[in-house]
Formats: sequence, C-alpha cells, structure tokens
Amino acid sequence: GATLATPSGTELNNSISYFVKNVKNLTQECNILSVWCNPREDHWELAKIKSTAGEEASVTLSDGSAITVSTGELLPANTESLDGVNDLVELQYLNKPSVLHNLQYRYRNDVIYSKAGPVLLSINPFKDVNIYGNDFVKAYKEKSSDKPHVYGVADAAYHDMMKDGGNQSIIISGESGSGKTVTAKFAMQYLAIVGSQNLRIKTKLVQASCILEAFGNAKTVRNNNSSRFGKLIDINYNADGIISGVCIQTCKHITKSRVSQISRGERSYHVFYQIIAGAPPVLKDMLSLKMASEYKYLNQSGCLKINGVDDAHNFIMLVDAFDSLGIPHEVQENVIEWLAAILWLGNISFAVIDKEEHVQPVDDEASRTAARLMGCNMDDLSELLSTDKIHNMTIALTSHQATVKRDALAKFIYESLFNWLVQEVNASLKGDNQPARHTISIIDIFGFESFQKNSFQQLLINYADERLQQHFIRHLCKLEQEEYELDGVHWKKVESGDNQECVDLFEKKPIGLISILDEASTSSEATDETFTDKIKEDLSSNFCFSCEKGTFRVRHYAGEVRYNASGLLEQNSDKLQFDIIQFLSSCKKPLNQLASGVMDQVQTTSQSVVVKFKDQLFNRIQRLDNSKQHFIRCIKPNTKQLPGSYDIDVVWEQLKRSQVMETVHISKSRYPISFTHQEFATRFGCLLSDNLISADPLRTSVSILQMHGVPTQMYQVGFTKLFFQGQVDVLENWRQEV
Ligand code: ATP
Ligand code: MG
Repeated sequence: GATLATPSGTELNNSISYFVKNVKNLTQECNILSVWCNPREDHWELAKIKSTAGEEASVTLSDGSAITVSTGELLPANTESLDGVNDLVELQYLNKPSVLHNLQYRYRNDVIYSKAGPVLLSINPFKDVNIYGNDFVKAYKEKSSDKPHVYGVADAAYHDMMKDGGNQSIIISGESGSGKTVTAKFAMQYLAIVGSQNLRIKTKLVQASCILEAFGNAKTVRNNNSSRFGKLIDINYNADGIISGVCIQTCKHITKSRVSQISRGERSYHVFYQIIAGAPPVLKDMLSLKMASEYKYLNQSGCLKINGVDDAHNFIMLVDAFDSLGIPHEVQENVIEWLAAILWLGNISFAVIDKEEHVQPVDDEASRTAARLMGCNMDDLSELLSTDKIHNMTIALTSHQATVKRDALAKFIYESLFNWLVQEVNASLKGDNQPARHTISIIDIFGFESFQKNSFQQLLINYADERLQQHFIRHLCKLEQEEYELDGVHWKKVESGDNQECVDLFEKKPIGLISILDEASTSSEATDETFTDKIKEDLSSNFCFSCEKGTFRVRHYAGEVRYNASGLLEQNSDKLQFDIIQFLSSCKKPLNQLASGVMDQVQTTSQSVVVKFKDQLFNRIQRLDNSKQHFIRCIKPNTKQLPGSYDIDVVWEQLKRSQVMETVHISKSRYPISFTHQEFATRFGCLLSDNLISADPLRTSVSILQMHGVPTQMYQVGFTKLFFQGQVDVLENWRQEV
C-alpha cells in the first residue's frame, strides 16, 4: 500500500490540506482510506473513502450508510494496526480524533497509562484496575514490562539517580480529582519496595499518608478525597540506593479556612467525621461528642456522609497509624480532645450585652464544653472571644467580630495540630540521620479549581497551578526548541501555548496581584473597596484580567475564574493574634508540643500569606530545575467521578490545556541525543584513520559521519553541537569493536 510522507511541525496539527492533496492518489492506489468525519458537530466517526470528486468525497460510515462530505471536513485516520499504541508519538496522524480514539481504545481495556513523548498520561479509572502490587513492581524492576506505567516512571527516576548520581523529581499535575495523590502513592510504593531491604518504610509511608489525609483531605464537589494541602515528598537515598529517610513538606497555607467554612455539598476535614463515627463510647462521653449534624462547623454544608466511605472504619485505621508512628494513647486522646473543642467552639453563640451591640458568649453547653475541653475557665474564654487587645487597649467586640474571633481561634488550633502532625510524621520517617546522597522528590500539588464562589484559597491554588504549568511548558516545549534555534539547527518550530501574561499578572512588581494584595494586607488603611479600586486601575491593561463590582476575573490557562474580592485582605493578612496564642499557652491541657509549635509560628516573619506562599513555590520550582524531571499528567475522563465513562470533550480540554499535542509533535521530530563537536570527535575519532583526523573537531565529526554512511536525515550539525535522532548506537557498537 501507499504511505503518506509525514509532514513535520505544525503542519501535522492541521494536516487536512496536505492530506486532501494526497487523497486522490491514494484512493486510486489502494481503494479504501480510513478517515475521521464528523457528520454531527464534534462527534467523530471512522469512515472509509469510496471516491472523491473535486472538493467532495463519498464515504461509508461504520453502520454501512454512505454520505457525501466536503473533503475539508475529513481528517486522516491511522491504520488499525496502530490502534492503542503505547506512545502517541507512534501515531502516524496526530489529530484530535486520532489521539482521543487512541486513549479511549486503551481506557476501554483498562489501560489507563499512555505516553505522550516524555510525559506519562494517566487517565483516572475511578475503580480498581488490576495493575499494581508486587508482581507488577517486579515486572518493572526486572524491566520485563515496557508498557507505560507509573512504576515505569518511578523506575526510570531510580535508575537515572543510580546511574548519573543526580537528584530526580517526579512532577504530578492535573485537575482536582484527576488522580495525582493516588498516582503519587503508587510511585512511592514502587520506590519504597525497590529502595529498601525490608518493608518497614513502605508501611510507614502508608501510615503517614493515612494520617495526613485524615487531617488534610476533604470532600469537595470535584473530589471526594481532595487534598487541601500541597505536598513534596523527598525520598533520600544513601550511596547504595537504599532509602535513608523520607521527609514530607507541606504547603498548607490554604488549609485552615475549611475548618469554619464549607460550601454546599462539601465536607470539612475527614478527621472530624471519623472521630464522631468511630471514637469509643467512653471517649465520646468524656468529650461530650454528639452527632455530626449537631455541629455548626459540619452541618452548614448539608453534607455529612460520602457514598462508599466508612468514617468509623477509617477512624480505626487512623488510630492504627498513630500507634505505629509511636504516638502514645494519651497524646492521641489529646488530639481528639482538641478536635472536639474545635467543634464545640463552632457552636458558641453570642448575646448582646449593651447599647453599642457588644456581645458575650452565651453561657451554655457549647461554651462550657469548649472551655472544659481546652482546659481553661469560662471567664478567660469569654474575655478572649468578646474583646480584642490593641496596644494595651481592650476593645469590646460586636457579634460579627466575635464570630470572626471565635473562628480564628478554631482555625489556629487546627493549623497548629496539622503542623504538629507533620512534624511527628517526619520524625518517624527520618530514618538513620545520615546525610542523603541523592533524593527523589515527588510533587503532588493541588490542581486547578473553579467553583461558583472562589476566594483566597482558589487564588493561591490556581496561582500555583499556573506557575507549575509555566514550568511544564518551558521544560517540555520551549527549552529544547530554543537550543535548536540558537545552535542554527534547521527546525520547524512547534508553537506552544504561553501563560506568561497570566503569570505576570500575579508576579509583576510592583503592580502584580501578589504585591498589591500584600501591600493592602499590611496597610492599616486599606479596605476591600480600596483594594478592588487599585487592582482595577493597575491591572486592567493585562489581557488576563478584568474587574467588576466586588469581583475580578482571571483568565487562567485552565479556564476563566471569577474571584470574590471581599475577604481577600483579611485572609491574606493572617494577623498573628497574640491574645489567642497567650490564651492557648495558658490552657491546662498537656499538649506541649502543640504550644511550642504555636510559638515557632510566632517567631516567623510578618509577611502576608500570599508572599510566603510565592516564596515557597519559587523555592520548590528552583529545586525542580536542579534535578532531572519526570512528568506525569493526570486526566479525569469525566466530571462525575464515574468509572467507565470517557467524555471526549472533558478529556480533550485537559489534553489541550496541558499542551500534550505540542509535546508529542516536538517529540516526533526531536533530536534526543547531542554532543558538542569536540565530544563527538573525541568519542568517535577512533572510527577514522589517522590521516583523516583534523585539528578542527567539526571537520573530524563530519568525516566520521560521512565515512560511516550515517543517513543525513538522522542528524543535524549545529554551531556548537551535533544533534541525532538515532543511529548513535550503531556508531557506539563499531566503536566498541575497534
Ligand atoms: P485533588 O487535587 O482534589 O487532591 P487528585 O488529583 O489528588 O485531586 P485523587 O484524590 O488522587 O485526585 O483521585 C481521586 C479519586 O480517583 C481517588 O479517590 C480514587 O477513587 C480515584 N483514582 C485515582 N487514581 C486511581 C487509580 N490509579 N486507580 C483507581 N482509582 C483511582
Ligand atoms: Mg490530591
């Protein structure tokens, strides 16, 4: 049969015109040609061309019916032999229906992983697929399987580390609910099995995630187990490739607001429901714990249960995990006591006591139980909640202010608990204290979010996502092409998306969203209104920004999001409330570690949250740049968290946003191997007779290539380097023989 010469670069993206030119010849040569046509808008169907006449083609659909369509509406389909290839790079035609078909073909057979050049794609199955566990680990360890898999990525990271001695990172990205956290766990599982002599570390890692998820994950409308904190897991190795310890860093600035405020259909952190469902009756009595529906912090969202999740069972798992980390029972009870105190705090109500509408907490079951659980007396609690201390002055609070104060106390306790837990978890994973020789970092950071109401949390999440996306594009689409261009290589540039303008919107100084927000939060005069005026004035020239009454929109690469401006300053300022800290350290409950954690926080600088968040993010990205990077892109096949449903629009959106097609185009024609002229001449000089060796390494190199008949389409000669698509292994073999 006939084959079409492959067009290169962007032409492929849009190969219709090119294709149509060939249609005639082809139909004459081989009678039938597979094409994609879309008789109904965006519903691509496989068809066979029967004949063409001018701009029209007569095609047969799979149900046998024949229709006539304009050739311009057809896209070439790959031959059946390419159905379900492992790597999209192997497809002859890279167009939307072909790529979607290939992934769907695999997904239908429970093959959730595919490659898109250097990136591993993972499509969330939303059900157990039988591709994990010891046998599979063994297959990848022994390299008896080369099918795309998260184990394969983890294995590559481990081997590159052992071979080159450099640090590695596995960067997992994707929208909320796409499977990042699950994927990260499987990567960890693999690395723990391969890099340790016993399974203790593996068990410990599982326990650690159990604890962190109980306290840091919650049901959102996107994901029943959504991580509300970002995490970077550093697995440290000694020179023999054995794990010497693990360190989990969390990015938790966004966590605490969920304690007092949840949107409809969502839940607070799992741990609250777990203690209510699972704590033994004696403990429940001691803590006066009631049903979840009795607590305002939990019942405000109208959602208390998650389908298929057994909170009581998970409580037992949590206690197990605490036990195995060596946290004594008294301390565990203390933790639960603080959690119960938070729930009771949320039920405290206020009564007006004077003409100026100042309030005091109502003396009832809620306030009395909260005080008892925290180990303080009612008067102290009452004073804390009904007054603010500013410069030695005591100011009485109104009902709204007192509620804010009460919530601030609850959030502060939760945040301190979380910080303390991370410390405990890390202490148990620390290992033998020897300095690490190499590290593999796994990064599982929050994915893009857009709800009906978006506030500070979403702003931080989406900013981090935007930044990581920039990193992704730069790394996979830009750097390599820049190198070719600079070195004068003949290269048809693949245009990739660019989110620089949106990143600038956030980061530009002094008129970026971050610096304006920071300045406003630290100024005593700024209000929500002055802040909104300022961003409207300063940022409206940015294409990605628009401002309306009380809200502003940002055009993120992943979609447009409308943020509420009110409350941003408040949430960003995160004022250190000394009276809260003082109050907590005087409470007679023995969780001293907690109090010291609190004190550590006081010591930190007075930067606003968004600046701390940005610095932390920069720091992380810099570390990524100094390591060899392995990319995993998680994709959710539908928005309903359902197994077996593959919504092509939903999948395509994500592929488009993450520049998967561009990455594949680049990979198809890239030059994965390169040498400087000198390197090449030195390495392969032995393949030339002495009289042909020149003082000019370039001349020597070219002689080697010509002498050995390396096809010219396999390499390019740049100003400083030689770039190869392949064939180097052949030269290597000859070299070994000399
Ligand atoms: P978020 O950004 O909200 O934290 P996420 O990308 O971390 O989302 P996960 O929590 O990892 O998403 O995945 C969501 C759910 O999808 C899981 O709870 C699980 O039910 C299912 N899931 C994900 N990956 C797999 C997998 N490989 N096998 C089976 N189920 C999976
Ligand atoms: Mg997650």
